[in-house]
Amino acid sequence: MTSLTRRHFLAASTLAALYGAARPGYAVADTIPWRNWSGALVAHPAGRFSPASEDELAGFLSASDGPVRPVGSGHSFSPLVPTDGHLIVLDQLTGLLDHDAGALRATFAAGTRLGDMGALLEAVGQGMFILPDIDRQTLAGATATATHGTGIEFTCLSGYVTALRLITPRGRVLDVSAASHPDLFDAARVSLGALGIVTRMTLQNRAAYKLKARDWVQRTEEVLEGFDESAAKHRHFEMFPLTHSDYALTLAIDETDEPIDNPTPSPEEAAAFAEAMKSWMAVPPRERPPLVNGLAEQVEPSERVDVSYRILSNIRNTRFNEMEYSVPLDAGADCLREVLRTIRDKEVDVVFPLEYRYVSRDDTWLGMSAGNEEHAAISIHRDATEDYRPYFDLIEPIFWKYGGRPHWGKVHSLDAAALRKLYPRFDDFQAIRAELDPAGRLLNDHLRKVLVG
Ligand SMILES: Cc1cc2nc3c(=O)[nH]c(=O)nc-3n(C[C@H](O)[C@H](O)[C@H](O)COP(=O)(O)OP(=O)(O)OC[C@H]3O[C@@H](n4cnc5c(N)ncnc54)[C@H](O)[C@@H]3O)c2cc1C
Repeated sequence: MTSLTRRHFLAASTLAALYGAARPGYAVADTIPWRNWSGALVAHPAGRFSPASEDELAGFLSASDGPVRPVGSGHSFSPLVPTDGHLIVLDQLTGLLDHDAGALRATFAAGTRLGDMGALLEAVGQGMFILPDIDRQTLAGATATATHGTGIEFTCLSGYVTALRLITPRGRVLDVSAASHPDLFDAARVSLGALGIVTRMTLQNRAAYKLKARDWVQRTEEVLEGFDESAAKHRHFEMFPLTHSDYALTLAIDETDEPIDNPTPSPEEAAAFAEAMKSWMAVPPRERPPLVNGLAEQVEPSERVDVSYRILSNIRNTRFNEMEYSVPLDAGADCLREVLRTIRDKEVDVVFPLEYRYVSRDDTWLGMSAGNEEHAAISIHRDATEDYRPYFDLIEPIFWKYGGRPHWGKVHSLDAAALRKLYPRFDDFQAIRAELDPAGRLLNDHLRKVLVG
């Protein structure tokens, strides 16, 4: 029988794969609709402006009025980007601008994709501490929503920002750091694109390094009971509980000096596995557990070693929509248990695994893990071809019950009144936003709902 690994399990099917896929500035009067990655969000911007330089961007902003929204790579599931005004696209402001070999810091143009940063940093002997599940996001877009990876000792990406340049809606250029503008620095590291356009960011990195990933399948309850211990023992530890099953796909990542060995999963094996999965997907959810458990028990552990950035992020070819809340660490296991129980009891016909991971606290104002305690982040997913609302509407109140904060870039239904209660510095952020953008150029309908109320 074809051997199965966790990666094949995830990559195998469109159903179960949590992982699936110096010219001058120009302004395009646009008839092309904008869509986000999942395809659920569509906008008809009046135009797209892609500056060739920071000066050009500052000039555009100071000489124009009307709504503008910065866009990264459109990987957010929540409608942070849509506008009928101008999209500001930083696809010409990319690349490594500077690095400090002694302090292990590097400055990137903010339109750089995370996936392009690894090799650029490796060439100067540096590596990022963490990366999210995928690396197609831009640096500015990812930090704007407090995008995070996995690990009790690692903050979201915004926690590693040591300085940034912000061009305000009126075209003023501000170089912002903890020393120069302490409040603005804490606000602008997770800004939702509501304070201005970030054009460059300096990150604290570490020496380049290699990682070894090990994955296996284990009973969900067993993993959960030992989760704190595993999270303390491994650099990164997370699990993907399977729905209508007693099992979870489990992933541990640690630093290593072993030689690189990172084989590409064979498409034939993945296809064979996809076929096998169809058998249990054809049956109603209540009859699935024996089939899913049977399949899960066949998954063989696997290992791979590579430079850090090739291990930390993956490829997601299957499009989906996602909701993610972070709850205080102590509430994490019970919250996850209740979500899984609800999926089972309500016979929710969903095959995407959940994701459960720890994230360290940070000192930004609007980071999901901002504050005094570590958080557990719990994600649910729905295939992009299906209506995610009934499923997400069912589960979201469970996250609220456990004191959850929504990921800014993922689906949620909270408004400013509810969010204010979750973030002690919410009103301070508002005050800075109103000062920098008095005309509300950067507000779209969603930002009015979640920030202004
Ligand atoms: C397949 C997939 C996997 C994901 N995995 C993870 C994960 O592991 N962990 C996690 O935390 N999140 C994850 N996400 C969510 C994703 O990281 C965030 O939604 C992120 O913000 C998207 O970055 P982007 O570059 O696509 O920005 P966009 O979605 O285009 O924009 C996001 C926000 O950034 C703002 N913005 C963009 N550019 C600028 C700029 N130059 N200046 C100021 N503001 C700007 C936008 O206005 C908007 O508010 C995932 C999303 C997908 C689709």
